[in-house]
Amino acid sequence: MSTEKAVKYVTETPEEEVKRVAEWINTEEYKEKNFARQALVINPAHTCQPLGAELAAHAFEGSLPFVHGSQGCASYYRSTLNRHFREPAPAVSDSMTEDGAVFGGQNNLHEALENAYALYKPKMISIFTSCMPEIIGDDLTAFIKNARQKGHIPQDTLLPYANTPSFNGSHIHGYDAMLLSILQTLTEGKQVEGRCTGKLNLIAGFDCNTGNYQEYKRILKAFGIPYTFLADISDVFDSPLDGTYQLYPGGTKLEDAADSINGKATITLGAYSTSKTFTWIKDNYSGKHISMPAPFGIEKTDAFIMKLADLFGKPVPESLKAERGRAVDAMTDAHQYMHGKKFAIYGDPDYLLGYISFLLEMGARPYHVLCSKGTKKLEKEIQALLDTSPYGKDAKIYINKDLWHLRSLVMTDPVDAVIGDTHAKFITRDAKIPLFRFGFPNFDRVNLHRYPLVGYQGVINMVSTICNKFIEITDDTCDDRHFEMMR
Ligand code: SF4
Repeated sequence: MSTEKAVKYVTETPEEEVKRVAEWINTEEYKEKNFARQALVINPAHTCQPLGAELAAHAFEGSLPFVHGSQGCASYYRSTLNRHFREPAPAVSDSMTEDGAVFGGQNNLHEALENAYALYKPKMISIFTSCMPEIIGDDLTAFIKNARQKGHIPQDTLLPYANTPSFNGSHIHGYDAMLLSILQTLTEGKQVEGRCTGKLNLIAGFDCNTGNYQEYKRILKAFGIPYTFLADISDVFDSPLDGTYQLYPGGTKLEDAADSINGKATITLGAYSTSKTFTWIKDNYSGKHISMPAPFGIEKTDAFIMKLADLFGKPVPESLKAERGRAVDAMTDAHQYMHGKKFAIYGDPDYLLGYISFLLEMGARPYHVLCSKGTKKLEKEIQALLDTSPYGKDAKIYINKDLWHLRSLVMTDPVDAVIGDTHAKFITRDAKIPLFRFGFPNFDRVNLHRYPLVGYQGVINMVSTICNKFIEITDDTCDDRHFEMMR
């Protein structure tokens, strides 16, 4: 019997109906209905809080991420990080199931802490929650206190913990909560009156581009500025393949993180993804505290470089001045391929502001600007940035809208390209325009996280990626008469 005959469809949709709906969802009429949608989110451009917490938990020496909650959720965070970086993301879960949901998850937590400590010998266990324990109201503070009292875990084990309810906020808020708890735990009692490490504490925020971390380190090395990178994932998710498996490769040294409270200055480049952490740092850390935008584009990179020079009383190194000149040259050589092009852009607030700066500097037009978890403050900041350039004047901002909304926008009011992550590939396929995967997560391309987007090198990378794609499209679509050696 052929398979065709063996399969009986419960409902059949006539081909004409499929065609009619496929065309209808590209119309203004459908867009209006789509934007009237209130209670349903379709393909949100963010992940849940615990995923961000896991990223922060991975970023410290010997730190084992520990999910208090469901095994399936833990697999989701791990696989998302694992697919983006193509590296292992080792984390444990206390695997709450139905009995945990009814009686609370304390037994799960205690048993899992014992096992995790015995099996994986971490220097620190960084605990965060999935939805289930948050919904039933598990008291993490009491559970962890009891674990120590009952001897499930040695008294002196470092156990930072964060409540990361996924029905609220996004991965950047979970990152913030976990980072805050780790720093509070490590620096407790470590502040020494009159002591100054002479170091800069640098915080990148939720950033899944390991090349960015390397770029920051390279800039600081060029200046000769001693630093502690707070939450350094660069070696964790970009460790060399040398035939040996390390459970805890890299990460910020616990000793350095503990002493960071006595630093000369602390800079956060992720104002939105470290807002609670930075508020706490301002109240508790010695030295100066600076929150500034991630250095995307020339102007923001200049501001970062000048801030470093100012804080540490050092001249800007000649090598960085030359790099700046090369970046400006790269922009000038390529500007005609981007000038006036319209972009739909979406992503986390700190990245989104960076994309806009960069596009405006290139004379490109950020046209549909969307953030699926944002605030009025973010909207105002985006608008203020757009208002600085004539190329931002016809941009529209969409806060708390999803990628299904973005699809309607792109299909009814077309753009030349989208900047986002892998999830927009269905939109750009339908719209027949390129997608630039600068955000997180990217599952369908390799090594993108190794190419920095920040600093002058980041400018060169973004200009080259975008402009070469537009040139390639011209080559692929032009007629023979216009197929030229020179472009
Ligand atoms: S949203 Fe909740 S249920 Fe879904 S993966 Fe995140 S923690 Fe788990």
